[in-house]
Amino acid sequence: MTEQVIIIGAGQAGLSTAYYLQRQGITPLILDANQSYGGAWLNAWDSLKLFSPRQYSSLSGYTMPSTSEEYPTKTDVINYFGQYEQRYNFNIKRPVTVLNVEQHDNLFIVKTNMGEFTTKVLISATGNFSGPFIPNFEGINDFKGMQVHSSEYANNSAFASLNVAVVGSGNSGSQILAEVSKVANTHWFTNRPLEFLDDELDGRYLFELSTKQYQASLQGKTVEPSDDFSKIVMVDAVKEARERDVLTREENIVSFGKNTIKTANKTIPIDAVIWCTGFKANLAHLAGLNLSTDLSALTKQTHSVDYASLWLVGYGEWTGFASATILGVQKYAKQTATQVHQYLQGAI
Ligand code: FAD
Repeated sequence: MTEQVIIIGAGQAGLSTAYYLQRQGITPLILDANQSYGGAWLNAWDSLKLFSPRQYSSLSGYTMPSTSEEYPTKTDVINYFGQYEQRYNFNIKRPVTVLNVEQHDNLFIVKTNMGEFTTKVLISATGNFSGPFIPNFEGINDFKGMQVHSSEYANNSAFASLNVAVVGSGNSGSQILAEVSKVANTHWFTNRPLEFLDDELDGRYLFELSTKQYQASLQGKTVEPSDDFSKIVMVDAVKEARERDVLTREENIVSFGKNTIKTANKTIPIDAVIWCTGFKANLAHLAGLNLSTDLSALTKQTHSVDYASLWLVGYGEWTGFASATILGVQKYAKQTATQVHQYLQGAI
């Protein structure tokens, strides 16, 4: 049977796109690799909290129910996604992992671990979590200590009394450093000076900034990029770490030894490294479509420049301002649903 639309991924991007497609009278089939609802939030660390209150962390149509704290926890977000799926009765098959996609006679053949699916329109919303990025450093292959990426970090229990290097200066790095520094001797390595948002600013401010940029881009105005998006949000855990004076950065890493990190002026004993160095979109599941490896050349916002019936949603800046955030993805999900409807009507 040929589906009208298949969405790969039931994280916030996939769910938001499905919501808007259903408002267009289209019921997509969603294929998701996870055993349960929640997208990447299932893999986030135990103490992770959103940096925006629930009203700014909700998908269209249904506001996240009130939470015990101002900033929703990982569990609040996961439960909310489960309620959202039920509320809109999405057609989701899980766990189904898409292994590859090809196009024949204008149809996509979606090959999975549970057999093949055929569809007229394909929307990839697999997020960035499946593409953890770890930079290369001289000597890293000689390093004998423990190494985990932030996507594998759960809590600080494995690091008690160790010398721990936290590498990366984003929200993950600051929040994980804050937690691990309570039980270990931490060293924070960042490839740029640390910049923090003002205490009173949080995800609301970033969302309003991204909305202003989006509206300006729609009016064809040039948008001055803001470095506020790369500044660290001062959530409570990071403010508490600042009181303990642990938010200081080391000099840049020069090289690794067996159980050390060398900088220009120091050799620091290190037992473990936590890589908070972000993610890169992993589109290996679309390999059969021979898409460009230059992400900035792949889409016009979410619409593929190579295939009129392919969209990519929720991957961050190259698919739209702040599109890798819960609130930020929605305008692009809505725009994608409108374009898909037009495509199926033969209008584009
Ligand atoms: P995901 O949530 O990753 O969902 C993708 C889904 O696709 C998953 O269910 C996965 O199983 C599935 N999938 C992947 N590959 C395949 C395949 N081949 N076949 C089938 N299924 C597949 N955003 C905010 O708005 N506020 C925050 O406070 C915030 N904090 C964050 C903190 C951290 C540490 C991180 C990493 C991100 C944070 N984000 C935040 C960003 C955002 O919430 C996540 O990146 C979010 O999960 C992106 O949603 P998504 O739907 O694009 O992808």
